[in-house]
Amino acid sequence: MQIIPLRQNDRIQLKKPHPCGGNIFLILRVGSDVRIKCETCGRDMTLDRLKLEKSIRRTLNSSSIDT
Ligand SMILES: [Zn+2]
Repeated sequence: MQIIPLRQNDRIQLKKPHPCGGNIFLILRVGSDVRIKCETCGRDMTLDRLKLEKSIRRTLNSSSIDT
């Protein structure tokens, strides 16, 4: 299983879209829980980190990507 590094201000795409239809989220805070904000409607929510990692399709880092 791939380990996904979660960093503040990263964008992630989730497998399951938000009810508003968007599936791109911005990471606001990372801890045992992760707070993310929907880029489409601007709502934020807090998710369990493990649960979130499983529902990430991919990360959309604008900064450098470590290989
Ligand atoms: Zn939304």
